Amino acid sequence: MSRFFSNKYKNLTPYTPGEQPKDFKYIKLNTNESPYPPSKRAIREASKASKLLNLYPDPTCSALNNKMAEILGVSPEEILMTNGSDEVLNFAFMAFCDEKTPAIFPDITYGFYSVFAELNNVPYEEIPLKEDFSIDTEAFMGQNKTIFIANPNAPTGICLPLSEIEKILKSNPNNIVVIDEAYIDFGGESAVSLVPKYDNLLVTQTFSKSRSMAGARLGFGVAQKEIIADLNTIKYSTNPYNINKMTMASGVGILEDNDRTIKNCQKIIKTREFTKEALKDLGFTLTPSSANFIFAKHKDMGGEEIYKKLKEAGILVRHFNSEKIKDYNRITIGTKKQMKALISALKTILEEN
Ligand code: PMP
Repeated sequence: MSRFFSNKYKNLTPYTPGEQPKDFKYIKLNTNESPYPPSKRAIREASKASKLLNLYPDPTCSALNNKMAEILGVSPEEILMTNGSDEVLNFAFMAFCDEKTPAIFPDITYGFYSVFAELNNVPYEEIPLKEDFSIDTEAFMGQNKTIFIANPNAPTGICLPLSEIEKILKSNPNNIVVIDEAYIDFGGESAVSLVPKYDNLLVTQTFSKSRSMAGARLGFGVAQKEIIADLNTIKYSTNPYNINKMTMASGVGILEDNDRTIKNCQKIIKTREFTKEALKDLGFTLTPSSANFIFAKHKDMGGEEIYKKLKEAGILVRHFNSEKIKDYNRITIGTKKQMKALISALKTILEEN
């Protein structure tokens, strides 16, 4: 730390992203990317846009907003496009939390929430997950705090039904409820349908998982237009050109190919169910994941040991050191071929153990 670093950030522990090895020697199942590349159309649009990189991108992101609005059945004023969904989540902490309105989220969830809270000097409370790792929705009723819930939750993959989300919205009418739907396309029911009914709902989604565009950094928020206007105030006060031209163009391209996205999700869901069964046969216990990853622990071997052995075998998965979940690994669903390689490596590791 330099002697110039502001006191306000001295105690900040930054988020630790999953490993991103520079070589391609690993089967990469550690950061929940799609195993499928973006569509040819998305690549072509990015390439065309690159010829105009001397010009600033459209700060209103109108082409992308219009296309997304058409797909979601909302109006373009009800959407804000951001640099990954991490950015809209940070904007939500900036816009809707402060000393008087702390944040509240589950104790086991996306690790960035506590970092955003600390970055923005927002007090926060963490609600323990239930014994079975599901979210204790009762504990979120009438809280008078800004609520952040990942649905499906990460890294458990467990989904809440819309009826539970609606109860939380109803019991917190004077507070924003943020539903982070980074993994919603792999089995959950989206809360976007509730946006017209609740003026306190903000739904966030991403192009990084189901839409095969993690490298482009594109996410978005959906809410009634007053909330989007607040988020735009934050955006125009930080970085009005938050989406670069190539990302914007390829984003429209991928949305034009939405049928392909849906098909890819179906393939991933099928591969997930295949992998779950194979891992159960090997002695693993799994959470009921509705995401593009599974969360698994073995009856005889520790989580960290399995993570290390898999890495030696050329397969990267994600292990978290936190006490409650240290026996588990989060494993991204890749292609069927990649998952067969994982299963075969696990068989060898367990036999050798
Ligand atoms: N929410 C959750 C629950 C996540 O796991 C992630 C991905 N790490 C994000 C949001 C952010 O994803 P991105 O910024 O790539 O849209």
